[in-house]
Amino acid sequence: MKEEIATTLASVGEFPLIREFFQPLRLEGVAGVVAGIGDDAAVLAVPRTQQLLATVDALIEGIHFSATDDPFLLGEKALRVNLSDIAAMGGRPNWYLLSVGLPGETPSQWLTEFTRGLRGCGERFGVTIVGGNTTGSPSGRTIHVTMFGLVGQGRALTRGVAEVGDRIFVTGTIGDATLGLAVRQGGLIGVDEADRRYLEGRLDLPEPRVDMGVALADAAAARGVIDVSDGLVADLGHICTASGKGARLDVGRIPLSEAARRLVLRDPALMRRILTGGEDYELLFTVAPGAVEMVHTLSGRVGVPVTEIGEIVAGAEVEVVAADGERLVLEQGGWRHF
Ligand code: ADP
Ligand code: MG
Repeated sequence: MKEEIATTLASVGEFPLIREFFQPLRLEGVAGVVAGIGDDAAVLAVPRTQQLLATVDALIEGIHFSATDDPFLLGEKALRVNLSDIAAMGGRPNWYLLSVGLPGETPSQWLTEFTRGLRGCGERFGVTIVGGNTTGSPSGRTIHVTMFGLVGQGRALTRGVAEVGDRIFVTGTIGDATLGLAVRQGGLIGVDEADRRYLEGRLDLPEPRVDMGVALADAAAARGVIDVSDGLVADLGHICTASGKGARLDVGRIPLSEAARRLVLRDPALMRRILTGGEDYELLFTVAPGAVEMVHTLSGRVGVPVTEIGEIVAGAEVEVVAADGERLVLEQGGWRHF
């Protein structure tokens, strides 16, 4: 069938597109799908003991990606960023809607690869497509994924409940994605090949921390929770603003990958980029002192490393403290010591 499809979408038509490309993204065996693609709206069953989480993310050509970017990776990432949002609420992701705006001259090979990325990621995380929208676009490709997940009644992990004295934790390592972007844009030279591949991989294929989010929610182990999409300091700031608290962030404790560590050794000023760059999609969360042990236990059980990087304090500022104890001020143009 696929061989018969014309080389651009213009000659395929809306409904054959849905049939050929989007319908095959349905996964069998995902709970709660009473009706999926094919009617005016999906019908989804939410168990009485649970609450529905809903999130949407846009990928716009010219802003988030370019026409020459690998469409397979784009499909993967379109789901992953949404999975991360559900993870940051402590939920299990189940269902998604896909809305695309595509110029008629889009090669159908592009859509084949894009949907291959969606399918791979969907299968890995057990999320199925349940509907969407397909439209032409006069100027560039647009992709919106709306994802739904389930969380136990009253167990969603929100941003606004951090308390003074809470320890601040982060999963995985921080800064890889922004360093990967810097490498790709030619801003870092002389990076060894394996490190370059690793860092760009972290940018292209962020790892949504779904199991860790669910573990934290089930055990009620975390308070203020967010995923790191805007940058570590900015996202910690979001927790602080929502909670009406301040924070102390210890730069020397921030977990770095081997590749990032090597780059920072060469150029310590890269720490600024690591603190402010985004797209790591790690979980950043605060933990009551009495629950710290439990968080380490959950981390071991789920197999996701966590690192303590600071503490929630009174006030409204994120205070960034260097390894030598000096306070750092982050500005757009750079950072400086007091
Ligand atoms: P309506 O006009 O009632 O909104 P459409 O004709 O747009 O429905 O779509 C027909 C069916 O195909 C719907 O069930 C819709 O959810 C599904 N659909 C349309 N576009 C997509 C897409 N890009 N991905 C998945 N399902 C889609
Ligand atoms: Mg309709």
